[in-house]
Amino acid sequence: MKIPQAGEELDAYCTRCKLDLNHRVVAMVGDITKRVNCLTCHSEHNFRKPKGASVATTKKKTKKKTVRETAADKLRAEWASETEGHPDDAFAGYSMDSVFSEGDLILHKKFGKGHVQEVTAEGKVQVLFEEGVKRLAQGT
Ligand SMILES: [Zn+2]
Repeated sequence: MKIPQAGEELDAYCTRCKLDLNHRVVAMVGDITKRVNCLTCHSEHNFRKPKGASVATTKKKTKKKTVRETAADKLRAEWASETEGHPDDAFAGYSMDSVFSEGDLILHKKFGKGHVQEVTAEGKVQVLFEEGVKRLAQGT
C-alpha cells in the first residue's frame, strides 16, 4: 500500500463536518497519517479513517428487508379487502380460455381466490392472489 506524504490529499472522516471528505495530510508520524486538514471546513484535526462503506451497507440491507415485508403486507390487506364479503359464486373459475376484465373475481385451482387488477395486454391479465400478484394467460 502506498504511504501518503504530507501535502497529499486523501479520504478521511472529518470530526467537524461529520462526513467522509477530502483532506490534506498535515503531519505524518512514521508511516501513520497523524493530522489532516479538511478541504471543506478547513479545520485541522487528527486523522480518522473514512466511516463510509461498512455503515452504509448495513443500513441498506435493513432497509430493503423492511420495504419488502411492508409491500407484502399491503398486498395481502388489499387482497383481503377485495375478496372478502363476496359469496363463492361471485368468483369465476379460472381457465385459459375465459376472458376477464379489471375488477373481476377469479377462483384459481392453485392460487385460490383472486382479484383482477389489470388486463396488461391482449391475452394477459394481472391478478392479485393471497400469495401475491400473478400474471395469467386468458382468452382474447
Ligand atoms: Zn470538515
